[in-house]
Amino acid sequence: MQIREVGVIGCGLMGSGIAQVAATAGFPTVVLEASEELCQRGMHNISQRLERLVQKGTLSPHEGTAIQNRLKAVTDKSQLSNCDLVIEAIIENREEKLQLWRALDGILKREAILASNTSSLSITEMMMATSRPERFVGLHFFNPVPVMELVEIVRTILTDPQVHQTVLAFAGKLGKTPVCASDSAGFIVNRLLIPYLMDAIRALEQGAGSIADIDRAMKLGCGHPMGPFVLLDFIGLDTACSIANIVFEEFREPRFAPPGLLKRLVIAGRYGRKSGKGFYDYSDPNSPKPLELDRR
Ligand code: NAD
Repeated sequence: MQIREVGVIGCGLMGSGIAQVAATAGFPTVVLEASEELCQRGMHNISQRLERLVQKGTLSPHEGTAIQNRLKAVTDKSQLSNCDLVIEAIIENREEKLQLWRALDGILKREAILASNTSSLSITEMMMATSRPERFVGLHFFNPVPVMELVEIVRTILTDPQVHQTVLAFAGKLGKTPVCASDSAGFIVNRLLIPYLMDAIRALEQGAGSIADIDRAMKLGCGHPMGPFVLLDFIGLDTACSIANIVFEEFREPRFAPPGLLKRLVIAGRYGRKSGKGFYDYSDPNSPKPLELDRR
């Protein structure tokens, strides 16, 4: 099985990163978004990141242009019909993903490998929305995709071993290190990470410390590269809340449940870095200001 052309669906935080690393590894990559405007936004984000690499001297201007030329943003699903591997990275919503996979099943070529970048939804359920469950895997990248080395590869009861091997090799070609996970909610990383992040919010709600102090404590006391609230803002509070709900739904353990403060921030449109405000306000990117707690 050879992967020549890659398809990526959704060009948000994760999809744009996945498309960037696929094109950087030399794969012609088709990116599907919901509108022309979102295509442009996604491509613009990729261009900016490549531009920064050129400025730092990690990428030559020639390579930067070659990567951009390998990327094509489209709004029509039929443009994915030639892809050998299609990676879905749309919003973490079960109904949306199932509906998308049902629609794609009649469009993608029969030999294509289908993959979802979901953080917590059932790969088994998605694969059963298609007529070729044996060609379906979970391919879970981490944010920011161009920087983070890990990819969780999720094999289901029905995944063809050759498909699994091909995807493992693909992860290697992207310069990533794969780990194999089973199809249980949250896979490995989020199963352990979500209770920690939700506990940090509960600690804040119960007055254990301020946002800045809890972040500082976990960074300096545990050697983490960033504290839990900075990380939540990076992940996206809407995404983190959806993941927590899904993992809670599977295990029914309170430690996975999203706390009220997280739900209220999401309802208020504070999604984290991507919306400019989350647990911190990024109006001044050089000096993010923590949320005022008396207004939580
Ligand atoms: P995001 O909101 O930044 O991006 C989602 C994109 O999908 C949006 O641009 C949206 O326009 C597009 N989209 C929605 N429906 C679509 C459709 N039917 N067709 C084409 N495009 C569509 O979300 P994200 O953070 O990139 O997350 C995407 C997926 O990756 C989710 O499943 C999430 O759980 C997973 N994930 C997220 C992270 C993270 O840290 N944010 C990490 C690993 C995995």
